[in-house]
Amino acid sequence: MKTNNKRIKHILLYSIAAALITITALVPSAPQAVSAAPAEDTHSAQPQAENTKQPSRVAIIVDDFGNDMRGTDEMFKLPVKITVAVMPFLRSSEQDARRAHELGYDVLVHLPMEPRQGKPEWLGPGAVLTSMTDAEVRKRVEAALDNVPYAIGINNHMGSKVTGDERVMGIVLGVCKERGLFFVDSHTNYRSVAGRMARELGMPPVENHIFLDDVHSASHVAKQMKLVQERALSQRYCVTIGHVGIQGKETAAGIRSGIAGMKDNVEFVGISELVRDEWKWNSRLTLP
Ligand SMILES: [Zn+2]
Repeated sequence: MKTNNKRIKHILLYSIAAALITITALVPSAPQAVSAAPAEDTHSAQPQAENTKQPSRVAIIVDDFGNDMRGTDEMFKLPVKITVAVMPFLRSSEQDARRAHELGYDVLVHLPMEPRQGKPEWLGPGAVLTSMTDAEVRKRVEAALDNVPYAIGINNHMGSKVTGDERVMGIVLGVCKERGLFFVDSHTNYRSVAGRMARELGMPPVENHIFLDDVHSASHVAKQMKLVQERALSQRYCVTIGHVGIQGKETAAGIRSGIAGMKDNVEFVGISELVRDEWKWNSRLTLP
């Protein structure tokens, strides 16, 4: 009898425990409902119904133009629209910017900015440093913009130190805003303040998502292009950066083969189309 009672008690306890587990699982808990709220939206534009029907889009920015770099011709011959980022004050700065514009490509000033590490000679002429006064920074940014025709914005060459500096970034973004331009954060610093400050100024917080050629081979670049496609398909768009330079031809070849594999799934656009449609920003809005 005693053992039977014990057994019944056990069965009862198990049943009660099972019932409790079932009830807990069925009742929706309040904290879960709260945490289902959307995370901080990184772009300020309200999602538009028509945007969901648009194909996913990819903006390829190619950096380091302006010095007759290896791969320049190959990049200009790519079968899709790209964005050409030109370093100021170099021998082919103006020529590369004009050529890009004539092909219908977007032009950015690829502004040299002080890195946390790295050699100062990699910066190139006209670099912005954190040791400069406000007036010096402003002068450098304006001179760079005046040197590269058709520029609709700026992105940073190196710049891991400057993009983390609120004072200097405030001046860079301020000059951009005055001229109706925007700033693309190349994202060389994960603690960059550029995106947050751009939002605060009512400017598009555009940033690079994927570097294509951190490893210099055509096959690596093609592999990175697959990641670009994945991000574009899941997040609606992707901004990616490659380079002309020592391995510029290999990067161009990798981009070309990547394009061939994804052109049916995504649309390739200039950075101007993204800032116009994603953030409702019109380039040169304040210019006459
Ligand atoms: Zn660069």
